[in-house]
Amino acid sequence: MNFFLVFQNKSFREEFSGGYLWAPKQNKFGQTFHHWNDMRNVSQGDVIFNSYNGQMVSVLIAKDDCKEHERPVGLDELDLWEKDGYMVEAEYINLVSPINYKDHMDSILQLQGEKYAPFNRAGRGNTGYLFRVTAELANFLFEIIERKNGHTKEQFFIHPITDKQVITEVEEGLDSTAVLDNTEKDLIIKARVGHSRFKNALLNKEMKCKICGVSDSRFLVASHIKPWSKSDNQERLDVNNGLLLCPNHDSLFDRGLISFNENGEILISPSLDEATKVFMNIHDFIQIQLTYQQQYYMEWHREKFFTFSLKTL
Ligand SMILES: [Zn+2]
Repeated sequence: MNFFLVFQNKSFREEFSGGYLWAPKQNKFGQTFHHWNDMRNVSQGDVIFNSYNGQMVSVLIAKDDCKEHERPVGLDELDLWEKDGYMVEAEYINLVSPINYKDHMDSILQLQGEKYAPFNRAGRGNTGYLFRVTAELANFLFEIIERKNGHTKEQFFIHPITDKQVITEVEEGLDSTAVLDNTEKDLIIKARVGHSRFKNALLNKEMKCKICGVSDSRFLVASHIKPWSKSDNQERLDVNNGLLLCPNHDSLFDRGLISFNENGEILISPSLDEATKVFMNIHDFIQIQLTYQQQYYMEWHREKFFTFSLKTL
C-alpha cells in the first residue's frame, strides 16, 4: 500500500463532489511533471491525505487503480488544464476537526522522504498536485487523526468497492441460483449500486448518527426515511431521503417504532417499555434538526409508518 498527499486548493470542491482525483498529463507547453505523473502509481486501497488551504480536511481511499481519463466536466469551468489526464476514483472520508499541517511541521519535515516530498525545508507546501508520503509520515498523520477525530488507522485500510465490482459480485452471486430473470437481476444490481452511492453521499453530509452521535462509519447505516420499497427511483437515490443512524437507532426507525414530528422532536411507540428505551438509548427529549427536504420524507414516515404501527398495537 502506498501513501500520498494531494494539494487540492483550486479543485477541492469539484473533486470532492465528484468523488475523484484528477491531474492532466501535460501543460499546454507539453511539459510533464512528477506531481502529475505520480497519479499512475496510485492503486486501489492506497491512502491519500489531502491539503486544502493548509489543512487536512479529508482522507481519501483509492477505489480503483489510476486510469487515463479526460478532464471531468466538473473541472471544465475552472479551465486551468489540458484535457488528457489521469483519474483515480476515491472515497472521501471527512475529518470533523481539520488538521493544520503547520502545527506539526517539525515532525513532518523529519519524517517525509527526500524525493518528491510534499513540503519544502521552510515548511511550505511544494508547488504541484500529488506528492509521496513515507510510511513513517503516514503513521504520524494517522496518530494525529486518531487523537483529533477518533478514526483509527485501520478504518482507512479498507478497500471501498467500485460500482463495477458491486455489479460483478452480484452477478456472480446470482449465477449460482440462476432462477432470476434479467429484469430482476437488473433491479437488484441497481439497488446495490444505488445504496453504496447513497451511503457515501449521506456520510459526506451527516458524518454521524443523527440521534446519538456515533461516528465510526463501520457501524453507520444509511436508512431511508421513506422506505426503499415505497420510494420511486428518484426518491431512492435522493440523499435528502436518508438518515444516518447507528444500528440501534436504525432498527427502531426502520420498524416505525420511532419517528419525528415537524419540529424534529422524537415520537416513541408506546409499545416500547422503559427498560428497552434505556438500553436502546432513546428518551422523550431527543430532538433532531431536519432540513425542509428531509421534512417532506419524514411526514411520510410519521403518517404512513409510525402512526400505522400504533394502530396495529
Ligand atoms: Zn445512534
